[in-house]
Amino acid sequence: MSRIDCHSHVASRFWDAGGLTPESLVNAADKLGIDVLCCSTPIVRGMPTPEEFAASNEDLLKAMEEYPGKILGYCFVNPGYQTESLAEIERRVAEDGMVGIKLYNQYKCSDPVVYPIVRKAIELGVPILQHAGYLTDPEEAALQPNISNARDIAFLASMFPEAAIIEAHLGGGGDWEWALKNLRNARNVYMDTSGSVVDAGMVEKAVRYLGAERLLFGTDLSMEEGVGKVLDACISEGDRQLIFGENMKKILGRRAR
Ligand SMILES: [Zn+2]
Repeated sequence: MSRIDCHSHVASRFWDAGGLTPESLVNAADKLGIDVLCCSTPIVRGMPTPEEFAASNEDLLKAMEEYPGKILGYCFVNPGYQTESLAEIERRVAEDGMVGIKLYNQYKCSDPVVYPIVRKAIELGVPILQHAGYLTDPEEAALQPNISNARDIAFLASMFPEAAIIEAHLGGGGDWEWALKNLRNARNVYMDTSGSVVDAGMVEKAVRYLGAERLLFGTDLSMEEGVGKVLDACISEGDRQLIFGENMKKILGRRAR
């Protein structure tokens, strides 16, 4: 049974990840039976320029080259720079072998500025990993005024039914029950299980609401919790395998070129 962490990170010049190195990440993954790490290097504050997001992706590419086949990459862009973002995605996916696109909180994903990025993802056959949350703490929410929530993602998904969109961190985006309810009918949206939250019954409920075929194992660097919550969930072994790797394998297999 393979384990593909669909939501991980490596450090970059913009974020030191608490001293994380590709080597320490891979060592931890090996101990936890994680075979593949799909990583990104988003810039999480402000409005990154094309030079900045290209540099951040460059740091990820180095980690990918250090651990080929073990560390895979999502290309991070700021959709506000449309021409540069599309060129960056083309270059990183088609030439450098990145496997998806990472969007953070610079724009809500329902904002039309994001649509050309989604069209590009469809053309290339790669998923979009969308940072998301339904933040109930006003202080936290004030820090991320443009964070996308499940309703924004469901809206985007309905506009682009051919896109594969992954809502980030079931266990790291505030009210996860609200998110599950809003994603129920968004058939082309997957949810990753990552984040530090390990509420009892969370994975089971996600399976009930979305179906195991729409859930993807991820850690967002909460690695022990990430593996533990899927291992511990009261679900069938078949469902566990779908979540741990089979679903993501299928998504990665859609790649057009
Ligand atoms: Zn993350």
